[in-house]
Amino acid sequence: MFDADALNVREPSTARPLMRKTNLFADPRLFAADVTTVRHGVGTSSGGRNCNTLLAGQVLHGVLRGSYNPLMAGRHLSFLAGIPVDMVAGIGPAALKKLASAGVHSVADLLLHVPRRYLDRSQLFDLGSVPLGEEVTVGGTVLSVVERHLSKRRKMTTAVIGDDTNVVSAVWFNPYIKPKVGEELLLSGIVLRYGHKLQMKNPDMDRLADDEFLVTGRIVPVHPSLAGLSPYKLRKAISNALVRSQPIGEVLPEDLLDRLDLMDRATAFQNIHFPNAVEHANAARRRLVFDELFRLELSLALRKHAQQTSATGVRHDPGGPTVDVFTGALPYKLTGAQERSITEIQTDMASPQPMHRLLQGEVGSGKTVVAVAALLTAVQSGYQGAVMVPTEVLSEQHFFGTVDLLEDAGLRPPLFAPTGETGTESLFEKAADDSVGGVRVALLTGNRALTNFVDGSAKRADVVAWIADGTVDVVVGTHALIQDSLSFANLGLAVVDEQHRFGVYQRVQLRDKAEGYDPDLLIMTATPIPRTLAMTLYGDLDVSVLDEMPPGRLPVTTRVVPKTDAALAEMYSAVRSEVAGGRQVFVVCPLVEDSVKLEAASATAEHERLSSVFSELSVGLLHGQMRPDDKEAVMAQFKQGQIDILVATTVIEVGIDIPNATVMIIEDADRFGLSQLHQLRGRVGRGEHASHCFLVTDPSTPEGKRRIAAMVETTDGFKLAEVDLSIRGQGTVFGTRQAGAKDLKLADILRDAETLISARREAFAIVADDPSLSGVPAMREELEMFLGEDDEWLVRS
Ligand code: ADP
Ligand code: MG
Repeated sequence: MFDADALNVREPSTARPLMRKTNLFADPRLFAADVTTVRHGVGTSSGGRNCNTLLAGQVLHGVLRGSYNPLMAGRHLSFLAGIPVDMVAGIGPAALKKLASAGVHSVADLLLHVPRRYLDRSQLFDLGSVPLGEEVTVGGTVLSVVERHLSKRRKMTTAVIGDDTNVVSAVWFNPYIKPKVGEELLLSGIVLRYGHKLQMKNPDMDRLADDEFLVTGRIVPVHPSLAGLSPYKLRKAISNALVRSQPIGEVLPEDLLDRLDLMDRATAFQNIHFPNAVEHANAARRRLVFDELFRLELSLALRKHAQQTSATGVRHDPGGPTVDVFTGALPYKLTGAQERSITEIQTDMASPQPMHRLLQGEVGSGKTVVAVAALLTAVQSGYQGAVMVPTEVLSEQHFFGTVDLLEDAGLRPPLFAPTGETGTESLFEKAADDSVGGVRVALLTGNRALTNFVDGSAKRADVVAWIADGTVDVVVGTHALIQDSLSFANLGLAVVDEQHRFGVYQRVQLRDKAEGYDPDLLIMTATPIPRTLAMTLYGDLDVSVLDEMPPGRLPVTTRVVPKTDAALAEMYSAVRSEVAGGRQVFVVCPLVEDSVKLEAASATAEHERLSSVFSELSVGLLHGQMRPDDKEAVMAQFKQGQIDILVATTVIEVGIDIPNATVMIIEDADRFGLSQLHQLRGRVGRGEHASHCFLVTDPSTPEGKRRIAAMVETTDGFKLAEVDLSIRGQGTVFGTRQAGAKDLKLADILRDAETLISARREAFAIVADDPSLSGVPAMREELEMFLGEDDEWLVRS
């Protein structure tokens, strides 16, 4: 328990009121006498002069020389996380509530609320000689204030401020504090001259009457606004918290800090909030970013360790005949990367520890075959395999694709014609000669159930029962697979084709369909992801990469087509000549956010229009609102070449594989995300013919322009993924996918890639040596505090 009084964290009720120019850091309760107060005045000055206080440096000096009050020694972040934030002087009950709703509950949370930028207030300029157009600080007395209400919510405040040399007129919209005539203000911002008058727009403003240490003569932090506290109040609360928390205890081994040239923690917290020089703030940030990434990587390392030492996996048999029959019958030779990946997967599957592997590969690199080989490894070992995919159309394609591949390899099961209503019994005896028998595959989505062993569509209840009793060997499906009501007889391998859409939780749910043991897990990403993202999002997984395309692929040329009659006509004639050459064409209609209905309507309209533009050709239509049977029929016709041009919505985004299609037209392409565009373009360039992608667009937003430019520039999915990450920011990319990763506050995995790599290396090394973290107990405690409830078990002994 935390005893506030004993530790002197709360301001005693007898505390003297904060007086003008009282210096918090001179509080005798906190520091030894060698920390002296340096005072300096502002107001009368002659040009730019340096009035940088030495104070913070002396505080640090105090830290380093151990001259703190011994009561304060060695407080760890985990300890500070147990101290409610209202123990900090300056945080009252009203602020407490607001802080709580902003996620700031403890002193540690407050200390981790780090500045967004800094104001250099070490130099104070006279208005008479202030440089124009650059960030400066000026100070003076408020001579007049005018407030105007622009609207209910918007208020414009104008104040004229003067020093001995000139006056400046400053304008704010909804300022945090209202300047009062006669008081002294400090303004930081850009001074411009209009005619003879100096002006500042929305300068950062502080009252000179406030604690000088916090407002002037130094580098002043600008914290992101929080819970409606004024910048000054926030700064002051953080300063109070910091003073009372220092020295913050170190959690990392000294040799690690030395090796990576990292600042110690007490210094880092001091310098991130109140640096003496901007370089110090940068070094402090690097340390705290390291901490954040280190905690994340440590949790991933622990998770991986726990997975590896869990002995409840399935020992699959990679030596069985089914996989060999399958790969032997493929119409092409596997690429080296495919063979290597299959071997890596099978090695994992053969071991008694459950597999947790990510299969990464460029669009069109041939992930499907690898996944089927893995599924058949489970089947030939007497287990079931399941594939969960994000969309219905993709699930159908996976189902039919798998069924076709099996059929080509002679692995088709005998057809069963159902008699009567006996859906719930097992319908098959495993034949004695089942050694290389047929493989029974089922499709299960919210809307439909199909199998490759019953003619026509099957009853849903039957398929569910056949999954439960082991009749079905391989199930392909959507979220329907993780419904509570569905159970498996003996799930041995779960494949998740993630496409950024399933959360960790759903992965786990599919894996949990096996009772009493952990099945193997293979995750596929439909688009490549940057290495840094893989290290955070999938950092607990082993990775196989298909870094080699099947031979003979020609690059897809990409062109931007502005929406003019001439440009469109040229594109249409390119379409005609491709079709004349026997090729086929996709036309993807504009994305309508959150409305499949509107999207379907626009596709229908476009279909009509293009049917008349290309009246001599066969134009088909595919959208999400069509009945499953109709969708399937259209896809089959397109596959057989009966349709020349397929007008579709993004239902064709992922996975659709029609090697004869060589033209992809994407309308209003700037509206799509980069990974979507890359996926869509990946639908062509799959056969031996040269392919073309037309991006029909006049991009209007800066992001749209960047995306289109990136698409034209490269077909490399990894490069596009990095551009995507830099445009969208990691927050949106992380989403709900992994506890921990989304909590990154300081780190930016692109900018801090190097720190991430070293944090990962160190974390994995520590866990390999010392999985219980007994050598770094403080770190272990801290980790426990940062981990979500789902992950706490990782650090429990
Ligand atoms: P993705 O990795 O995008 O899922 P697919 O598995 O859909 O790629 O494969 C893309 C295309 O490449 C398919 O038409 C598939 O039949 C073909 N393919 C896969 N592997 C090879 C190979 N080794 N040689 C030739 N073609 C291949
Ligand atoms: Mg695929």
